[in-house]
Amino acid sequence: MSRFGHRNVPNLLPLAIEGDDAEKKIAYIRYPLIARMRKTLLLLLLAVLALLSMKKDPLVTDIADQLYINGHIWTTDPSLPFVEALAVKGDRILAVGSNADLNQFKNASTKVIDLKGKMMMPGFNDGHVHFLSGSLGLTVVDLVDAKTMQEAIQMIADYAKKHPELPWITGGGWQYSLFPGGLPNKQMLDAVIPDRPVYLKAYDGHSGWANSKALSIAGITKETTFKGFGELVKDKNGEPTGAFKESATGLVTRFVPGPDKAAKFNALLTGLKYAAALGITSIQNASGSREEYELYDSLLRTDQLTLRTSIAFSAGRSPNEKDIIGWKSIRSQNKNPKWLKTTAIKFLLDGVIESHTAVMIDPYSDLLQLDSIYRGQYAIPIDQYEKWVNRLDQEGFQIYTHAIGDASVRSVLNAYEKAMATNGQQNKRHRIEHIEMTTTVDIERFHQLGVLPSMQPIHAYPGTIDVWSKAVGEQRLPLSFPWASFLQNKTKLVFGSDWPACISLNPIRGIHNAVNRMTTDGKPVGGWIPAQKINLQDALYAYTAGAAYGSFDEQEKGQLKKGYLADFIVLSQDLFKIKPEDIYKTKVELTVVGGKKVHPTGLYE
Ligand SMILES: [Zn+2]
Repeated sequence: MSRFGHRNVPNLLPLAIEGDDAEKKIAYIRYPLIARMRKTLLLLLLAVLALLSMKKDPLVTDIADQLYINGHIWTTDPSLPFVEALAVKGDRILAVGSNADLNQFKNASTKVIDLKGKMMMPGFNDGHVHFLSGSLGLTVVDLVDAKTMQEAIQMIADYAKKHPELPWITGGGWQYSLFPGGLPNKQMLDAVIPDRPVYLKAYDGHSGWANSKALSIAGITKETTFKGFGELVKDKNGEPTGAFKESATGLVTRFVPGPDKAAKFNALLTGLKYAAALGITSIQNASGSREEYELYDSLLRTDQLTLRTSIAFSAGRSPNEKDIIGWKSIRSQNKNPKWLKTTAIKFLLDGVIESHTAVMIDPYSDLLQLDSIYRGQYAIPIDQYEKWVNRLDQEGFQIYTHAIGDASVRSVLNAYEKAMATNGQQNKRHRIEHIEMTTTVDIERFHQLGVLPSMQPIHAYPGTIDVWSKAVGEQRLPLSFPWASFLQNKTKLVFGSDWPACISLNPIRGIHNAVNRMTTDGKPVGGWIPAQKINLQDALYAYTAGAAYGSFDEQEKGQLKKGYLADFIVLSQDLFKIKPEDIYKTKVELTVVGGKKVHPTGLYE
């Protein structure tokens, strides 16, 4: 059959079976008798084969396991954006359409679920998350909800009181804006916990905060110096303040006892339940390791993985050929990409704007130009970075690079451009992570080079943006987190959270901010840099189909469409019918992954 090609079958069928008169006449006139007989036999054969193959078509014979009816179902499929009903068989979508259309897939064994007009949509795909550290964070001090410095300190004291068994108090989530000058100090902690070491990460993971006990365990004194990416912060007398930036955090963190593998496995189980409750059905891990891969693999093998995961392995500061061999071996041994994907490598090129470690084209607005790091710092020398990008591009890996400042974003585009000029540009989908500041010229280059902006709308939450805005300065603000500018340049957005380096894993909070750029209590009125707001469909798309495109999965997920994976959610209110300011109030009432309910039960049924 293959030599006739699939497309020929439907064209020939009418001639042989139904016999369109006009076409028959032409055939009779054109062909001599023998040739005509041979042709008829051939057409009959084709018709029989076509009928046989139709029998295999699920649309004709298959019966749904579940049939969802009476919904307001947003599919993300532009050819059929809204439908009433959806049929599931096994782990796939059997069909979508009207209640009447889908009735044919129902028999006595089909479970029928009446959505009563509720909104269903594809499950959220978090395009950039650090899921293991986030999950571990669920079991330690969490300052994400602290609104003031006093509140944060109280939460730490309460946690310590509740956990007298812990030798170290760890965790994090603090905001720079809680503290005068943007950074906390050891005295604040010493006042409540003088006798046990405390180490707490900033909400973005780029800075740390320790008490005097932790400093003394780590042997950090006036004499301690730090050279490298970051800073051991000291006061005007040269005394360490208890604050650390970037790699300087390592001065303390190497003394903090880490969780063992069993603790990590259990933390992931907690994380999976949390993600399911938020309607997240896929994640893309932005700091993977072999250990993390093995944890997900064992969750998968024991049937406990309820979230499709793709992993970008961390390249670190100086990868080597041995690392590449390791990544390639994981890539080739991994046999279930539907659940676990291992085809990307992640670089970190700069820091964050709040601590002036993101690399900017023009100096930071709130620093004196005499300051040695007034434009930020690269985490890796550019020539080294370019060399590795080229090497990994050649090996067929997708590349993620963390780049927040406009100069850093430009350096990544340059590196990708050079690598693709050498190795070919076709369908590489290399990505830049975060892009909190860039230029009009570079925004156009994303489209030209096919590079994907992977952005986290929750990072632009106006309630946490003060320190950031001062560092960037008035003049550069119009291109802050420029989602709308990317869409205007026909560039697909990949949305995610960056959890736990953000204030919330909840995609609904991200979508609220993408659409409103306002706090949940409506500030500032009209939105922060309102020209960069985007509409609801675009925001939802970036968190579903756009994110799926970001991991080469757009043929499998991100849309509710026949043959796609049955990953979807039902919401407490219809996002298309409420006021945009109310988006944040939305709850996820049902999460289904691969045809199985994972929330509200939190476990497979
Ligand atoms: Zn990240």
